[in-house]
Amino acid sequence: MTTPDQLDRDDPLAAYRDRFVGADGTLVYFDGNSLGRPLTVTGPRLAEFVDAEWGGRLIRGWDERWFDLPRTLGDDLARIALGAAPGQTVIGDSTTVLLYKMMRAAVAARPGRTEIVVDRDNFPTDRYIAAGIAEECGLTLRWVDVDTTAGVTAEQLAEVVGPATALVVISHVAYRSAWLADVPELTRIAHDAGALVLWDLCHSAGSVPVSLDAWDVDIAVGCTYKYLNGGPGSPAFVYVAERLVDELTQPIRGWIGADEPFLMGPAYAPATGIRRFLSGTPPIIGMLAIQDMLELIDDAGIEAVRAKSVALTEYAVTVADELLSPAGVVLASPPEPERRGGHVTLNHPRMREVTALLWQRDVIPDYRDPHGLRIGLSPLSTSFAEVRRGLEAVREALP
Ligand SMILES: *Cc1c(COP(=O)(O)O)cnc(C)c1O
Repeated sequence: MTTPDQLDRDDPLAAYRDRFVGADGTLVYFDGNSLGRPLTVTGPRLAEFVDAEWGGRLIRGWDERWFDLPRTLGDDLARIALGAAPGQTVIGDSTTVLLYKMMRAAVAARPGRTEIVVDRDNFPTDRYIAAGIAEECGLTLRWVDVDTTAGVTAEQLAEVVGPATALVVISHVAYRSAWLADVPELTRIAHDAGALVLWDLCHSAGSVPVSLDAWDVDIAVGCTYKYLNGGPGSPAFVYVAERLVDELTQPIRGWIGADEPFLMGPAYAPATGIRRFLSGTPPIIGMLAIQDMLELIDDAGIEAVRAKSVALTEYAVTVADELLSPAGVVLASPPEPERRGGHVTLNHPRMREVTALLWQRDVIPDYRDPHGLRIGLSPLSTSFAEVRRGLEAVREALP
């Protein structure tokens, strides 16, 4: 097998690793898909923002740049990582809050339809919000049972959608298995049934190329603190296809999403355009680090980022097969790289204890029930040598 050092020498994106805080240390970070590392430029950028923009411009900053930042940054994200034309993406609230707003907007746009389709292995917040909206609006949840080492297939979706379906909610990359859903195919199946689809891009935005416009997606929501390195709690984004923007109305009718915020009029009318999906004052400080990571992804190119991501997960699968399968570890992610996002889950009955030991030894993966060690490989900040070191540590930690 090629040595990890050779793979790092041959990696055209290897130099990007030096731009991340702490990447030169010995800690093995397998959780960049949960909280990406900061870039070294982000610290100075934040300090400069406080001194020059916040401190220097004060409230004038809103007119000069901040009021439009949710949309301008949304357009940058759309161009660099989402395959979407301008005017359809905005940075807003947390993912959870945006999921609520957009699921609610979607079911309201399909009156008379009574079901929301969601899979049993979708991320908890997606399932909880869908259940809450079903309760609130008198709708029924229609569950898709999925293999937890894979995800929603076209056949499974085709079986459950029909004339009663208002909305389908699926993750592009499954948070547990890394299953990469066939977005255009599943979207077509939902559309043939007359339903809207909301795609959760939390585990794909910034690592897997997305073509929202070409795939005819209706609505998408995603995180910015995972592969977009926005920092803990950085605000999420929402995409709404241009054909739907002025048809959907969201339930949190705040002044920033209103037609003329500064008229402060007696009643709410939604803004025309994507700003209508905002509610209150945008979290500007949380948007600053996202800009730095987007610049890096733009520079590297999202297709090259994906190529590195595939090489990293392929390498992790190969090393796990060599080092860990003799100890009884099994792959709980799709074996084919084209069906997999940027992480790999490895199952063993002792993985909960193994994870605790690894954290003590400065190897930081995630644990996911049942028995899953989740290895997140953030393409621009992870090296092949790091993967090898981390998996050797897993071998040592196993009984
Ligand atoms: C991480 C993640 C979330 C997180 O939502 P927050 O509101 O940011 O806590 C939601 N959905 C999926 C699929 C995720 O992976």
